[in-house]
Amino acid sequence: MKRILVTGGAGFIGSHLCGRLIKQGNEVLCVDNFLTGARSNLDKLLTHQSFELLRHDVTFPLYVEVDEIYNLACPASPVHYQRDPVQTTKTSVMGAINMLGLSKRLHARILQASTSEVYGDPDVHPQPESYCGHVSIVGPRACYDEGKRCAETLFHDYRRQHRMSVRVARIFNTYGPNMHPQDGRVISNFIVQALTHQPITIYGDGSQTRSFCYVDDLVEGLLRLMAVEEEPGDVVNLGNPSEINVLALAERIVQLCNSRSTIECRPLPQDDPRRRCPDISRAREKLRWSPRVDLDTGLVRTIAYFEARLIQKGSPIHA
Ligand code: NAD
Ligand code: UDP
Ligand code: UDP
Repeated sequence: MKRILVTGGAGFIGSHLCGRLIKQGNEVLCVDNFLTGARSNLDKLLTHQSFELLRHDVTFPLYVEVDEIYNLACPASPVHYQRDPVQTTKTSVMGAINMLGLSKRLHARILQASTSEVYGDPDVHPQPESYCGHVSIVGPRACYDEGKRCAETLFHDYRRQHRMSVRVARIFNTYGPNMHPQDGRVISNFIVQALTHQPITIYGDGSQTRSFCYVDDLVEGLLRLMAVEEEPGDVVNLGNPSEINVLALAERIVQLCNSRSTIECRPLPQDDPRRRCPDISRAREKLRWSPRVDLDTGLVRTIAYFEARLIQKGSPIHA
């Protein structure tokens, strides 16, 4: 049994990770400032004797005693991370420094939740870890993309300078239960719109692509990356290589929800990446990991989650 810190543990991915770690028999300390996460994501864990929840902002130092650290704290939806871009960069960079300082003091292995956004609007497709990216320094997404890039640099420098054991996962678009209904990301938006028979908001013409990974698969990848003894290269892509365009995704969700929603086009946000798809050869080889849940299966489970929330809270789901 280990004592494990999960920053951002009240968020979408973090809450699933906390659940898995507790199930494995570990003690979990979840640290979150509830910017985009919610206690309700942790409902089933709050009474568990091996689970502890601390409200704390990772841009400030944290002195606790743990054996391993998963650093997930950071808003991930463009709508949220662009609301306070300075705080977003601070969270990525100062959060990384504080968690690396903590890890250094404790000799605790640390994993960073990086992102496919480090590749920006890619001109190499699919994206292998060796691709250096095509990122705007000044655009509205830069606070997130560059913050995460700088965090990665810090992880590699702490590794080299202080001989630390660090792991960096470049996570591609992930979806599933516990996404906030107003999270603003495409799958939660489309499902909520479809279930409430509101127009589906496609940004641009819907020809841009993404590759969506179900959260259980992603969490399995994070656990394997943390556990593997030999560091599998500097970074590892984790995502589902099955690519779909946004229009096709909208149509699929409307069908699976049996919805009367129409499809409406809205302006494409600035710097929106045209396509994204992970090359996961390294994860396959070094972690023996690949996603198992296909898009339809994952969507059906996610739709069931949002439907239950709708019934629980009473209409409208946005409340
Ligand atoms: P999320 O917004 O649901 O969760 C982020 C959590 O971090 C929230 O609980 C939030 O309250 C917390 N947080 C934010 N700033 C904080 C701070 N300063 N101090 C403490 N806690 C703070 O997002 P998510 O989808 O669960 O993403 C988790 C991590 O994975 C993020 O680091 C994100 O960048 C990364 N990631 C996610 C995806 C994805 O598709 N979901 C893709 C790539 C990378
Ligand atoms: N830090 C922390 N918890 C610890 C140890 C360090 O939050 O248990 C923070 C501390 O604020 C420090 C940062 O991590 O500024 C980086 O630590 P490091 O030891 O690398 O640098 P230094 O302390 O020399 O600035
Ligand atoms: N998107 C959309 N309608 C929405 C929300 C998002 O068409 O209501 C598009 C968005 O422009 C992008 C894709 O869906 O092209 C994925 O957006 P998301 O915010 O989920 O993630 P990211 O852009 O960070 O990959």
